[in-house]
Amino acid sequence: VQKKKNIATYIKQYLQPPIAFLLEEIGIKAEKEGLHAYITGGMIRDLIMERPSEDMDIIIEGDAPSFAAAYAEEKMGTVHIHESFGTATVTLPDQIKVDFSSARTEYYERPASLPTVRHSNIREDLYRRDFTINAMAASICPGTFGDLLDFFKGWEDIKEKTLRVLHNLSYVEDPTRILRGLRFEYRLSFRMDERAERLAKEAGSSIKTLSNSRTINEMKLLFKETDPYFSLERLYELDVLDDFLPHAYWGFRAKEMLEHWAVPLYRESWFHYLLCLYMEKPDLLAKARFLAVSKEQKRFLESFIYLSGLPRSFYMQRLGTIHDALSSCRSEDLEAVSAYFKYALSDYAVSEALLDYQTKRQQLPLLRGTDLIAAGMTPSRDFRHYLFEVEKAALNGEMTTKQEALQFVTGRLQT
Ligand code: ATP
Repeated sequence: VQKKKNIATYIKQYLQPPIAFLLEEIGIKAEKEGLHAYITGGMIRDLIMERPSEDMDIIIEGDAPSFAAAYAEEKMGTVHIHESFGTATVTLPDQIKVDFSSARTEYYERPASLPTVRHSNIREDLYRRDFTINAMAASICPGTFGDLLDFFKGWEDIKEKTLRVLHNLSYVEDPTRILRGLRFEYRLSFRMDERAERLAKEAGSSIKTLSNSRTINEMKLLFKETDPYFSLERLYELDVLDDFLPHAYWGFRAKEMLEHWAVPLYRESWFHYLLCLYMEKPDLLAKARFLAVSKEQKRFLESFIYLSGLPRSFYMQRLGTIHDALSSCRSEDLEAVSAYFKYALSDYAVSEALLDYQTKRQQLPLLRGTDLIAAGMTPSRDFRHYLFEVEKAALNGEMTTKQEALQFVTGRLQT
């Protein structure tokens, strides 16, 4: 039996007055129509934690889409309805968004149902949520404004900073809840309880059924909000890392690359963070291809696979020779592979050679086609060839001035 709690004072104290006003207005409208309206989810969690929130998720006991449509019309806003989910989003003229969802209910036919019946419907709705801390609702109707429905001890869990799932099949139903859990752990400094951790460990086969795009989507959200080291370490602890990301390996090389390459160079880039998990063995990178979704990610990964697969003897050659093979590689790719040799393989000589090549290459060209024309030469297809020869010779340290370069080309054209 729940103790009766009311969060009206939290609403007044922590929500912006216009938001609190909107909630009251929605509650009054619902009551007029013989319906009941509640706020739910993150807003209640944030309020109990004495934080502001703008996240208006409203449960309507009844037909939320038609309620939302009428509300939008009254407020001169727009409504977007998802009929099959029984949900609707209203965007008000000042761009504030209000989400409405229907609590499954038989009581719509019988508006005078007893509160207990009514609450059993909303209880079912809340039971399908991710964690108890997000599974509360509070009335926004007059008379009961702020009355909290907390069937699963969410309040207590917030105070204890604990993430508890609602039932044993929670992660099986939706494995992305594990990733949501990590976001809340990080953001709120909460921790999954022992059961939530155990259930995550047991959810492997369900996690594997997630589509690539869902996994990637959730990973994006995860890394947008958390420190990647924290999240990857937690996924590893929960023994689900390679269920979400096949063949991923959280080892020495991943940690080094994350710390020295991905984090400093690519802030909040889920793609680069996750690539680090595929560096423990030479052939592992090819298994990361499923992560590359954009054209640029595909290009980068293929370049990385190619460059990291070249034998170290290749990189020990003269810079001019390296240039023959790598002239079209982007600096970003060379830096990445240099970091790979340094931090993952502890091969400092190759790493330095790559950086040396990349730095010296940036100082090119010594000579341009326009310089040749200015020197009185007739433009020809050979220009390109000779200019490239100049680049190679410059990289080898065989020439350092434009004058020398010009002499070199003139000499070649005369032979
Ligand atoms: P945030 O502050 O990140 O917006 P939130 O809790 O409001 O946190 P939303 O993604 O906006 O998160 O979801 C709103 C509510 O919907 C949650 O509080 C939770 O009750 C429920 N919910 C969202 N995603 C899931 C899910 N995958 N499984 C179960 N319930 C979910």
